[in-house]
Amino acid sequence: MMIDLPTLLLALTVTSGVLSVAVLAVAVRSRGHHGLAMWGWGLVVNALSYPAFGLRAWGWVTVSILLTNLLTALTLVCHASAVAAFQSGRARPIQLPVVWGLLAANVLVAWTWVHDDPTRNVLVALIQAGLAGVLLNQAWGPGLVERRLTGRWVMIFGASTLVLALLVRTGVMWSATRWSDAYKVPDHVQALTYLATLMVLLVNSMGFVLMQMEYALSQQRSLAIRDGLTGVHNRRALLDALQKYGARSHRDSESMALLMIDIDHFKAVNDQFGHLAGDEVLREVVRRISHRLRQSDLLARFGGEEFVVVLPDTSVDGACTVANDIRMSIGSMPVLVGQLAVPVTVSIGVHAGIPAAATEGTDALLAASDAALYRAKELGRDRVAVA
Ligand code: GH3
Ligand code: MG
Ligand code: MG
Repeated sequence: MMIDLPTLLLALTVTSGVLSVAVLAVAVRSRGHHGLAMWGWGLVVNALSYPAFGLRAWGWVTVSILLTNLLTALTLVCHASAVAAFQSGRARPIQLPVVWGLLAANVLVAWTWVHDDPTRNVLVALIQAGLAGVLLNQAWGPGLVERRLTGRWVMIFGASTLVLALLVRTGVMWSATRWSDAYKVPDHVQALTYLATLMVLLVNSMGFVLMQMEYALSQQRSLAIRDGLTGVHNRRALLDALQKYGARSHRDSESMALLMIDIDHFKAVNDQFGHLAGDEVLREVVRRISHRLRQSDLLARFGGEEFVVVLPDTSVDGACTVANDIRMSIGSMPVLVGQLAVPVTVSIGVHAGIPAAATEGTDALLAASDAALYRAKELGRDRVAVA
C-alpha cells in the first residue's frame, strides 16, 4: 500500500482542526451541552499531535516523540472526560485516577525509552489501547445517558474499533522487535494506524454530537408534554393521547374510561395554608393517584387542581372501583406539609364506554366526565359519580 505519510499528516491536521473549530463554536453558543467544549479541546490537542509527529523529519526526534505521546494520550483523556461530563450532567473534571495514571505512564514510557524505539512502541500502543478502553467503558456506562441514545452506540463502535486497532498495533510492534538490527517502523504501519485513528475520531465525534442532540431533543420533548409542577402529562399531551386511546377503543370495540378528578375546596386550602402548601398537596395527590394506576393508564393535569385519568380497556364498574380507591387513598389520610396536616378530599366524575366514532371522541368523552364531576360536586363532594 502506498500512502504518503507527510500528505496524510497534513490531511489529518486539517480535518481534526476544522472539526475542533466547529465543535468549539457550537459549544460556546450552547452552554447546556455538557462536555462538548471538552470534546472540542480534545480535537485541538489531537490536531496538534500530527505536526508534532512531523517534527521527526526535521531532526527534532526526541522532542517529537515526547510531544506526540503526550498529545495523543491527552486526546483520549479529554474525550473520556467529555463523555464523563455528559453522563454526570455537569461539566466537571473527570474523576478517574486510572486515566491520569495511564497518561502519566504514557509520558514516562516515552521519556524512559525515548531512544529505544522497539520497546517504546510496544508499551505506548498497549497503554493507549488502555486509554481507548477507558473511553469505551465511559461510553458504555449508564449515568445521564439513556441506553437507547443511538449516538452512544456509534461511539461504542468507534471506541471498540480503536481498542482493537491499538491492540493489533501492539502485536505488530511486538513482532517487529524481532525483525532486524535496523529497526524501523514501516511507513505503511504508521499510516494505517493514523488512518484508523482518524476514522475512529470522526465516528466518535459524530457519536458524541449525536448523543448531545438526541438528549437535548428528548429533554425538549419531555418539557413540551409534561406539567412543570407535578411531572405528569399536561393538557396538550392528554388531548393527543385521548385521540389515540379513543380511536383504538373504537376500532377494537372495547370500553375505555375517563376519570375527571377535582380537589374539593382547594381555594380554601390555599387560603388557609398558603400557595406553597397548595402546591405540595397537588404533588401528593398526583403520587396517590399514580399509585393506583396500571402501566397502560394515563394521568394528566387538566387544569389548576383538576386531573384526568384515562383507563383503556375498562368498563364502568372497573372505573368506579379505581375511582373510589383513589378517592379513599386521598381522603383517608391528611397530606403532611412540614408540620401541617392538610385534610384533602376529591370528587371524581366517571365516564366509560366505546367512543361513537374514531375521531369525534375527545370532546364528548371530556364533556361526559365533566358532567359527572359536576354531579359529584352537587351531591356534596368527596364522592364518585357516573355520567
Ligand atoms: P370546588 O370544591 O368547587 O372544586 O372548589 P375549589 O375551591 O377547589 O375550586 P375553584 O375552582 O374555585 O378553585 C380552584 C383553586 O385552585 C383556585 C386556584 O388558586 C387554585 N390553583 C390552581 N392552580 C394552582 C396551583 O398550581 N397551585 C396552587 N397552590 N393552587 C392552584
Ligand atoms: Mg376544586
Ligand atoms: Mg376545579
